Amino acid sequence: MNYLSTDEDRKVAAQGLKIIRKIMLETETFKKYKPEEYRPGIHITDNEELVKAGSDFTQTIFHPVGTCKMGNDNLSVVDDSLKVREIENLRVIDASIMPNITSGNTNAPTIMIAEKGSDMILNG
Ligand SMILES: Cc1cc2nc3c(=O)[nH]c(=O)nc-3n(C[C@H](O)[C@H](O)[C@H](O)COP(=O)(O)OP(=O)(O)OC[C@H]3O[C@@H](n4cnc5c(N)ncnc54)[C@H](O)[C@@H]3O)c2cc1C
Repeated sequence: MNYLSTDEDRKVAAQGLKIIRKIMLETETFKKYKPEEYRPGIHITDNEELVKAGSDFTQTIFHPVGTCKMGNDNLSVVDDSLKVREIENLRVIDASIMPNITSGNTNAPTIMIAEKGSDMILNG
């Protein structure tokens, strides 16, 4: 996915870590809990080193969808019957057909797509 591959992304990530550090270590709200930084470690202050250390143990839970979107325009891969355009007897029935990502989590909408798609297959 090329996460953290641009200067801007790395800068924002480093700033984010610094803001979290400031909130946790410098605000009265948290001071009473005597917080200590476990990872990446308070000794790391340089932006690039912070991002490198952070990216060693972070992961995304981004929900990828839409690589095979349904629609009527030229960039759409499947039509509204989930049939792949210009190819016979092939449907795509999964999260990839979502034209846009849903505002909530994607599992239930994917099950809905599967239920609807299986009905379409059964009904021709
Ligand atoms: C870390 C994480 C956490 C998530 N948490 C939630 C959550 O809490 N709630 C929620 O609603 N959604 C959540 N999701 C999203 C949800 O899991 C997905 O949106 C949903 O599973 C997408 O369904 P899918 O059928 O499109 O793809 P998938 O579930 O990814 O199914 C694809 C299937 O194809 C198989 N496959 C791949 N390549 C081949 C091949 N060449 N030949 C045969 N089989 C192949 C794979 O093994 C897999 O079984 C989460 C996703 C991730 C990654």
